[in-house]
Amino acid sequence: MFHVKHDPMKVRNECPVCGSKAFKNFDQIPDYFLTKEVFTIDQCEICGFLFTNPYPPKETIGKYYQSDLYLSHPKSAFSFLAIIYNLVKKINIHSKYKSASSKLAPGRVLDIGCGSGDFLYYCKEKGWEIEGIEPHEEARVFVSKMVKKEIYNPDRIIEFPDNHFELITMWHVLEHVDDLDFQLQQVSRVLKKNGRLILALPNYQSYDCLYYKRYWAGWDVPRHLYHFERNTIQRLSKRFGLISEEIIPMRWDSFYVSLLSEKYANHSFSFFRAMLSGFKSNRKAKVSGEYSSLLYVFKLK
Ligand SMILES: [Zn+2]
Repeated sequence: MFHVKHDPMKVRNECPVCGSKAFKNFDQIPDYFLTKEVFTIDQCEICGFLFTNPYPPKETIGKYYQSDLYLSHPKSAFSFLAIIYNLVKKINIHSKYKSASSKLAPGRVLDIGCGSGDFLYYCKEKGWEIEGIEPHEEARVFVSKMVKKEIYNPDRIIEFPDNHFELITMWHVLEHVDDLDFQLQQVSRVLKKNGRLILALPNYQSYDCLYYKRYWAGWDVPRHLYHFERNTIQRLSKRFGLISEEIIPMRWDSFYVSLLSEKYANHSFSFFRAMLSGFKSNRKAKVSGEYSSLLYVFKLK
């Protein structure tokens, strides 16, 4: 095991989903991505929710993101790998767009945690009026230039009017958000009555998680403060008047997560193993529905 040495951490005394004060220790997981520090995941004894506890507060969590790998920078298109990478990225964005917008005509879209801005850019090209929120300053500046529109810091979500967006998307974002209640309150406030909220989340009930265990890249502690599965996310959203309409598989994620997990586990032949694991995960999920990541489509009650 790695040596644990943390800056001051924040402790949760209540389950963020159901408010219960009874937890048990679920597992200890190292931050394989960056610091190798070990973090504890607690499990609520009432609703089963898993959350990283204690966790680094807003003021110090920045150091766990200090890697160029985390922000997907645009790649130069001159190597074979870069061509594959860009091709997969394009197909992935197209499939994300199709899943997210299938029930809607173009209107206003808000992408929370828009990262490198690829999804927003795609939406703009499809005729949407776009808004973006992103905590990472460098990314904000970059995307603002790319989409010719100011990208906001997360606390500025309060400036949007009520009942405003046809579509709100959070692609692997909610698990990073410190003030969960505030975010979901705001999201349900600015979402239009007939709009859709899209939450993409890693799923620890998937085969790739069972297979990689602590090496599973979907844990991603301490950046992931929460670890959702279909029951806990639906229970939480209900508190904010959001009802799950549909759950859609994210089949690319099993390969991506397996590749990272193989890297963390330091296996040989990692590329081939990851492809096999990704394939197996999707095949098993055909029956169980437990894909590596799930895309939840929510609407207001
Ligand atoms: Zn609970």
